Amino acid sequence: MSASPIRVGMLGAGQLARMMALEGMPLGCEFSIYDTSGAPSAGIGTLYSDPENDQAHLQEFLDSVDVVTYEFEHLPLNLARNIESRKPLHPNVRSLATCQDREKEKTLFSELGIPTPRWRMARSAEELRNACEALGTPVVAKSATEGYDGKGQAVIRNPADAEAAWTQIGHDRLIVESFVNFTRELSLIAVRSSQGELACYPLVENHHHEGILRYTWAPAPGVSAAVEAAADDYIARLLNELDYVGALALELFETPDGLLANEMAPRVHNSGHWTQNGAATSQFENHIRAVAGLPLGSTALTRPSCMINLIGAEVDRERLLTLPDTYLHLYNKSIRPGRKVGHINVTADNASAIHNKVQAVLSCVSDCAPYPER
Ligand code: AMP
Repeated sequence: MSASPIRVGMLGAGQLARMMALEGMPLGCEFSIYDTSGAPSAGIGTLYSDPENDQAHLQEFLDSVDVVTYEFEHLPLNLARNIESRKPLHPNVRSLATCQDREKEKTLFSELGIPTPRWRMARSAEELRNACEALGTPVVAKSATEGYDGKGQAVIRNPADAEAAWTQIGHDRLIVESFVNFTRELSLIAVRSSQGELACYPLVENHHHEGILRYTWAPAPGVSAAVEAAADDYIARLLNELDYVGALALELFETPDGLLANEMAPRVHNSGHWTQNGAATSQFENHIRAVAGLPLGSTALTRPSCMINLIGAEVDRERLLTLPDTYLHLYNKSIRPGRKVGHINVTADNASAIHNKVQAVLSCVSDCAPYPER
């Protein structure tokens, strides 16, 4: 029964690492952060940097920690395996490997009875054309690995365009999915502790612009109890099958026939940033609680919320901070077009009161995507 420091190692030094460290420190966690990008922005914890990716400081980093987690899933698997053989790594290598490869991911969804868009794999332009014909166009072709935020993808409307799409994507293995006319995009974050305890945040509704998340509404308006229960069941199957420890994000398409799983991320997720101000315990704190072997906190929504991403945008901080129920989270990053530099959470007593508050926030931001119609 002691509250001695828990030394958490973090792979990656961006905003997600920063927010996890900011919320883990009051729990008595100490953070060592391992960066290979050469451009760490976390600005918190003890930094170990190997910009040449030569692992020169890896041993020193590992010696300074009890447990290791990460902020991004594009982590070389050999590095993750190496670390897992020396220190507990959460989420585990199997979870990481599954999320890195869309074929493994969709196969697992199917094995666990989680509905997905219909899909095929293609390893050549000819196989891509065959997949278009088998599934019926339109389809979405995606590189099996290394894609994110809609990169490495093409919508194919005619099988005759398969050759051009193959060349454009320029990858040797593609997943080809039926194009889903979804009603909206939802996501769900859940956490599993090292004791196997599970907790789900409510389903949220996400709005993207140019492939990047711009707005999240929490909770997603008008979700039926049956849809919420189905989503909770899907993510529980994944967490238990993977013997997962930490926060997992599951992106879903809502259709008139129910939910379809798109992809998952083995980490805290941009669509969960609202939890900092609208939930009893944030996703960042709960992820750290899980990886540090602590009990989970409540995932209950405390206030309806909207998360507004700052993408390459300036904010009038003085004016913004005069607005009620408005919370600024800047990432210590310089502004460049398309770069996530911060987010703003807005909360309200009820969901319909959120939208006017968001308009007031947007008047303080230099550049923002169109706010969605309700
Ligand atoms: P992803 O990288 O898989 O998250 O895809 C990026 C975005 O492309 C998603 O957020 C959707 O808006 C869209 N998308 C992906 N897959 C499909 C699909 N099978 N049908 C329709 N739209 C899709």
